[in-house]
Amino acid sequence: MSFSYDTLVVGSGPSGIAAAIAAARGKKAVGLVDDNPAPGGQIWRRDLSRPRHPDAEKQLAQLNFTSVDRLQGCRVFDHPANGVLHAECDGVAITLRYKKLILATGARERFLPFPGWTLPNVMGAGALDALVRGGLPIAGKTVVVAGTGPLLLAVAAHLAEHGARIAAVCEQATKGQILPFLTALLGEPAKVKQVLGYRVKIRGANFHTGCWPVAARGGGQIEAVIVSNGRRQWEIACDYLACGFHLIPNVELPVLVGCRLQDGFVAVDDLQRTSVENVFCAGEPTGIGGVDKALIEGEIAGLACAGALDEARHLARHMKSRRRFARAMQKAFALRTELKALASEDTIICRCEDVPFGRLHSCTSWREAKLHTRCGMGPCQGRICGAATAFLFGWGADSVRPPVFPALLSSLVSASQSDDIPTEAQ
Ligand SMILES: Cc1cc2nc3c(=O)[nH]c(=O)nc-3n(C[C@H](O)[C@H](O)[C@H](O)COP(=O)(O)OP(=O)(O)OC[C@H]3O[C@@H](n4cnc5c(N)ncnc54)[C@H](O)[C@@H]3O)c2cc1C
Repeated sequence: MSFSYDTLVVGSGPSGIAAAIAAARGKKAVGLVDDNPAPGGQIWRRDLSRPRHPDAEKQLAQLNFTSVDRLQGCRVFDHPANGVLHAECDGVAITLRYKKLILATGARERFLPFPGWTLPNVMGAGALDALVRGGLPIAGKTVVVAGTGPLLLAVAAHLAEHGARIAAVCEQATKGQILPFLTALLGEPAKVKQVLGYRVKIRGANFHTGCWPVAARGGGQIEAVIVSNGRRQWEIACDYLACGFHLIPNVELPVLVGCRLQDGFVAVDDLQRTSVENVFCAGEPTGIGGVDKALIEGEIAGLACAGALDEARHLARHMKSRRRFARAMQKAFALRTELKALASEDTIICRCEDVPFGRLHSCTSWREAKLHTRCGMGPCQGRICGAATAFLFGWGADSVRPPVFPALLSSLVSASQSDDIPTEAQ
């Protein structure tokens, strides 16, 4: 099965939705593909027990009003040739052809290993939030939220709204590190209001800065987390530990398409053009900067694809302050070196392939670790342990190879036999 578009957008988070709406103004065929069952990405993920955020309502209503062809539940796994992507939808491989491509693939949480981090009920902060939005009952449960980044406060507030008792929020960055970021926030009254709102929702909880988890303890599941502030350690009893160390960009597909990276993010110009002709990138892969940055970048990319260059350039003037905000955030939540010393010899680093920390000492690169220990070779393809080993050992991937997401053997076979792609690419 094959679909052809003038502009194809990958990712239907805030940036992908904004991109598709703007691109559709060019009155050409626009496709929007995403692996989730519904559009919205991370922040606008549907909370089954709450009305949607008004911004999400507005964007989704606008999207419904366009002729954008939406392919939800479809995961792009390969880019065999220019102008062609392969995706898997409900177990069926499809070919997507495009003239212009907007990559809005978002970001994921970074996990760092510490003893006990693989115990049941130790979860990513965003991951626990997503489960609760999907219906996981959290009322009456005691939760510790730990790690780093603005997501911690947002998640803690949301879980408290659902009846969780937030025992503590432990932010590894120090007050001194965060202060310049908070000062930058002062210029944005809406964000200040949002942060204060979160703080009110978790008013009974201890908020510790310069504090990080060193171990999770429990039998069948977590019973307590041990945290440290560098001077002393103490134990906090909990039913759940929601733990994430800020976000890392999903750049695997952009890299496979050939886009140049700069400092780990996709390099773009003022119109969101990447180093590859007719390929644009928007949202978190160009810099972790929150929903406002994602929306503007998506709109700029969509307008540029629709040929509305003046409008796109006009909008691009607002990007300076967004990019400054993203840089301030990156600096504020930089990881402290103590986090490199948390794992013990038997702490699992690659949970797909059960590779403990002790087996990685003798390796000198990510490639060697993969070859000698199978670290990063399991179903997640290093999405979790890759970021951890990059921080722990300074390793990086030499290249990205397809499939960028796990795909059924039948999909790989069908994609390789597709007569939609030029023969030299097969
Ligand atoms: C719980 C939570 C609370 C947050 N709260 C705030 C907040 O209060 N304020 C704020 O500014 N920001 C907040 N954020 C951050 C915010 O979610 C992001 O800044 C924003 O979602 C970025 O939008 P995006 O479109 O770039 O990426 P995303 O929202 O991540 O969307 C990317 C989409 O692309 C899809 N995708 C990726 N690769 C593929 C592929 N190969 N094939 C198909 N689909 C693919 C993903 O599944 C996803 O749906 C929060 C995040 C979380 C998780």
